[in-house]
Amino acid sequence: MVDIQEISAYLEQTLPALGINKKRELLRLLFEIIKRDGACAGRWLPAEKNMTFERAKSHLLRLRYPHSYASAPKNAFYLPKLEMDPAQRADLTPRPFYPKHIYIEASVQDSALTQRARQTFPQADFQVCSGKEKVGSARFSRRTETLLIHREKYDFLKPCPCSAGNAGCGYNLINLGFGCRFECEYCFLQQYQNLHAILLPANVQDFLDKIDGAHFNRGPFDRPRIGSGEFTDSLVFDELTQYSAQLVPFFRTRAHLQFEFKTKSTCIEGLLAQGGAENVVVGWSVNAPAFIEKVEHFTPSLAQRLQAAAQVVYAGYRVGFHFDPVVPFEGWKNAYAQAACQIADAVPAEKVAWVSVGLLRFSRELKKAVESRFPENTILDGEFLLEFDGKMRYPEVLRQEVYAYLVPLLQKLFPKAVVYVCMEKPHICPACFAG
Ligand code: SF4
Repeated sequence: MVDIQEISAYLEQTLPALGINKKRELLRLLFEIIKRDGACAGRWLPAEKNMTFERAKSHLLRLRYPHSYASAPKNAFYLPKLEMDPAQRADLTPRPFYPKHIYIEASVQDSALTQRARQTFPQADFQVCSGKEKVGSARFSRRTETLLIHREKYDFLKPCPCSAGNAGCGYNLINLGFGCRFECEYCFLQQYQNLHAILLPANVQDFLDKIDGAHFNRGPFDRPRIGSGEFTDSLVFDELTQYSAQLVPFFRTRAHLQFEFKTKSTCIEGLLAQGGAENVVVGWSVNAPAFIEKVEHFTPSLAQRLQAAAQVVYAGYRVGFHFDPVVPFEGWKNAYAQAACQIADAVPAEKVAWVSVGLLRFSRELKKAVESRFPENTILDGEFLLEFDGKMRYPEVLRQEVYAYLVPLLQKLFPKAVVYVCMEKPHICPACFAG
């Protein structure tokens, strides 16, 4: 762990006249350099007689952003105040999902989902409530202690909120659930979810009722795509929710549409029980095995995900794969090429409907959440710059290099699949569609 007090004391001693904001920026830069490269503050900012803030800052920026310092606009370097809150640290103790408190909205207290929750978690404290008020744990890290089964009233069907300036792939969302029991270090819910609980709607039919008659954009795909994995993993709670038992029969009779379960889980029993559907795609988020092991806590390994993928293909579903987030760590080319070959070995290429690629990107607010929850993370060590849409991204030249390598490789391995890049400017990958 980097000793922030030590860096602060060093700055006091080396540049004693610094104002608060200037000191904050140098502290942030030294912290990030030491976290990534080790050593101590004096190694990176040797004491010099005539050192000024400006010289110190440009020296440290050059060290922190060796590949992009010269070309990036100066306002692309995001240097927020260091505010690590140890109380927010993620709890990585393995444990089953077993909420302590289960709140049931009065209008769904007789639903099948409520009954299953009562059978599955008999030790939980059940309370009937009138809404989301007063529900949830104090901290995000304790969100799985609370489950709310509710009736969704407004947010049924919407286009994927691809950020401004990106092309958009026509994806459509039904948000069946909010919150997840996995602990991926990059997960945007850490900063986005303000109700620290798992929310599951009991009125799935109300979502499905919005689909017939709706107008959908199909993007570069043969049919419009609808998915459910924006604010949760589509299958991680399926044993409890049994949403698959409603979704698969519904979409099976609507061949002009395709539905995607987006997941990292191996919770496929519900899907297998439904017997397959050509227009239902199970889309696995995939990554290099070492990255999964280190960063996607509590999730199944790549081999386990692919075993599940082979089973759903055998049952009659098609599959998709999302290389997202790609992180260009040392040796990334081999690692991602091997993962792609592992997928090609596990499932027949003609059953792969689509493959997406997206490099790690995140809102600036997420940076602080990740620092507090995963202080030993390495995912923030990259050269992230504030980009056109307000997101932190790798420099464009690196993104182009990754896409130029991975996209043709994936197109070759999966010739029938639509290979596309996610949340990117249209020109970033001329070889494929940018969604
Ligand atoms: S699986 Fe998805 S929703 Fe769940 S923690 Fe990981 S990134 Fe977040």
